Amino acid sequence: MTPELKVLAVDGGAGTGKSTTARNLAFRKNFLHVDTGSHYRSLTKHLLDAGVSASDTDEYLNLNKLELSTEVMDRSARLLVNGISYPSESLRALEINSAVSSFASLPSVRKHLFEYQRSQVEVARKEKLNGIVMEGRDIGTVIFPDAHLKVFLTADTSIREERRQLDGENDQIVQRDSIDSTRKIAPLVPAPGSLIIDTGELSVDAVIEEIEKYL
Ligand code: C5P
Repeated sequence: MTPELKVLAVDGGAGTGKSTTARNLAFRKNFLHVDTGSHYRSLTKHLLDAGVSASDTDEYLNLNKLELSTEVMDRSARLLVNGISYPSESLRALEINSAVSSFASLPSVRKHLFEYQRSQVEVARKEKLNGIVMEGRDIGTVIFPDAHLKVFLTADTSIREERRQLDGENDQIVQRDSIDSTRKIAPLVPAPGSLIIDTGELSVDAVIEEIEKYL
């Protein structure tokens, strides 16, 4: 019998420390790290590059089935859209930060990613890893409602904005969170039974220790 793979869901708003936490946990537990924010950013980049606006997206995605594949490096999964893996810098540009939440609120975009994101468990299995840590906004509510552990990270807006500035990133945290939390489909809310951690005053190690207590 194949051993059961552990599934850890990490959700939260922009700048709450999801990526740092998920990456560190993946390293410590030998899990696959999947950043689903980068999936929405990659689709947004693809659509903007193709000149497709949010109002034309449903029609475009109906006519053009995108080929989604995965490349794994150092326990981290990267999405390729029609064979293209976009560099991180281009996915974190202001153009994408300002558009991604509008595209992510479209049912056709989320539908395009649903099966792909769930299939990442098989990628982790093929890579012979012990589990998967997937971060995003709806991982505990929609993608893996049966995850072994669901974590929801929070932090004060001022702290989150400061973190983005330290990263040298021009982001729109408040606007994105507002669109993400109020959209009709898969809004940003803690999944029932989530372990809620305020990362504002905690070190990365302290956040990880807290999560490891429950894993
Ligand atoms: O995590 P990150 O800040 O890179 O995510 C970028 C955007 O992608 C979010 O603001 C949100 O609109 C969208 N997203 C989502 N569902 C996820 C992950 C990200 O809607 N699971």
